[in-house]
Amino acid sequence: MNSFPERKIIFDMDGVITSEERYWDAAALTVWELLCSERYLGLERSSPTLSSAFSAAAASFSSPELPGFKTNPTIQEIASIRRTIFCADKVIRFFKARAVNSNWDLAYLTFCFHLFSLVQHLADRNEDSWKPSFDALLLDWAGDARGEELMKRLLALFPAGLEYRLGHGYDQSPDDTNTYLPFSATPLWKDMQEIFQEWYYGEKMFRELFRKEPGNHGKAPLYEKETPLIEVEKIKTVLSQLSSRGWKLGIATGRPTNELFYPLQSMGLWEYFQPDSVVTFDKVVQTENSLKGVLPSLTLGKPHPYPFLKAYWGELKRDEDLIAPPYPAPPPGMCWAVGDTMADLLAARQAGAAFIGVLSGAISPDNSDLFEKEGADAVLPDLTFLPDFFSKINKE
Ligand SMILES: [Mg+2]
Repeated sequence: MNSFPERKIIFDMDGVITSEERYWDAAALTVWELLCSERYLGLERSSPTLSSAFSAAAASFSSPELPGFKTNPTIQEIASIRRTIFCADKVIRFFKARAVNSNWDLAYLTFCFHLFSLVQHLADRNEDSWKPSFDALLLDWAGDARGEELMKRLLALFPAGLEYRLGHGYDQSPDDTNTYLPFSATPLWKDMQEIFQEWYYGEKMFRELFRKEPGNHGKAPLYEKETPLIEVEKIKTVLSQLSSRGWKLGIATGRPTNELFYPLQSMGLWEYFQPDSVVTFDKVVQTENSLKGVLPSLTLGKPHPYPFLKAYWGELKRDEDLIAPPYPAPPPGMCWAVGDTMADLLAARQAGAAFIGVLSGAISPDNSDLFEKEGADAVLPDLTFLPDFFSKINKE
């Protein structure tokens, strides 16, 4: 380990190097399962275990695009479920443009929108049956809210009293009236995360990794169908060119370590990165837990700058120095962050890193002005443009 700051390029993974497609499939399947499986809301048909009002509301829910719930949908059915629930991916772009980085949060916020809408329908004692309006999520309820703030806007639309169970528990906690509960700390979020992992890993791997039984049996793994975003050989060329010009390469990702290491290793890309400059979901949670005594509601995932700061500084700075302003900015020009979302941009900006937005992920070329408006230092079609970009600015 060097004891002086180095020149580093820190990459977000999904939408930059790895494809997020299978995660988005898993997010859509999770929302579908929560809405339609009899284990959860069971909206496909009325159930004797549900209240009569709920049964009446749910009785006639059906959609030609959504097959009846099962754990072994075909590839075509998965595509159709995702197209319906995420409105041809418009819902994904809606949340990514509002700094929702985690696909667990994407699934959670989507499901909560429909759950709240059902609760409102029941609270209104509406006689008509209810079915989710997937398009309604795209209406302007969010204003300029981003990340965690979105749940507050969502709760404001629907009946009061759900805050503590579903996120943002200001003044609602029975234990501590001042506790703030981020939505990822709620029981519903944790259950939802497990369902998501069941889809992503499949039944066998889920059981091995988490040492527990899945809620619904028979899921096949989506992770085995992961593909790189760009041809692997092209990615290797870019990474080796940057390394040979003296850049250290790091990663700041919301992926758990297992979901980063195995795909990158199997693609032959892991060796290009400095292990002490890699920050994953596991590291973020570990730091959050270690500082819980001081800051119980700390969330350090992007758009918090911690993942980029930790990937840059490694062991040179203590975690305590990277979690609250003033953040220790890397020396000018020494740290570049490359990402595909607004969460990446906001995290990089707070970290004091220069930011390159790539249009190969959540933000498409049609929306490239989103990055420009927020002051990205550069916007490039994808990472293959990086060597030329650095040649121009650094005369490398
Ligand atoms: Mg990304």
